Amino acid sequence: MDRLPRIGLGWDRHALAAGHTCKLAGLEIDCPVGPVGHSDADVILHALTDALLGAAGLDDLGTLFADTDPRWKDAASTDFLAAAVGLLADSSLRVISVDMVVVCDLPRLAPHRGAMRANLARLLSLPVNRVNLKGKTTEGGPANASAAIEVHAIVMLKDVTPSGGCA
Ligand code: MG
Repeated sequence: MDRLPRIGLGWDRHALAAGHTCKLAGLEIDCPVGPVGHSDADVILHALTDALLGAAGLDDLGTLFADTDPRWKDAASTDFLAAAVGLLADSSLRVISVDMVVVCDLPRLAPHRGAMRANLARLLSLPVNRVNLKGKTTEGGPANASAAIEVHAIVMLKDVTPSGGCA
């Protein structure tokens, strides 16, 4: 097996609606609307987890944690991320860099960006300067754009197989 770095891309989109907790990057954000979903609908963690799984050549989030499976009803998406990181470790892969773009009109990301980066870094056991996240508004995009949140994530993994190993 080669030891070249691996790149993974993840994307997710959830509708936003009143009365739903706004859980993003593992943090509860004070916002009048929140993502709608089967789990806690943390769209940032979903895109990130899919990017990690993709880079490792593993099944995607929807296959591992189907939104039709009652086991994952209201599940914490931090558990999905932790499971993916565990699968990476099983494959002797470690995440070294994350970048993300979050597209939404609500909530405003800027006041929460630092805390989100710090929490993602904590969840991935990375220094904060290896995890980035930018908020973008739709700037008058589609009429229903403000009713959804969309996330793009890209990650880089490195192979940490011990020298002489055969994993
Ligand atoms: Mg999702």
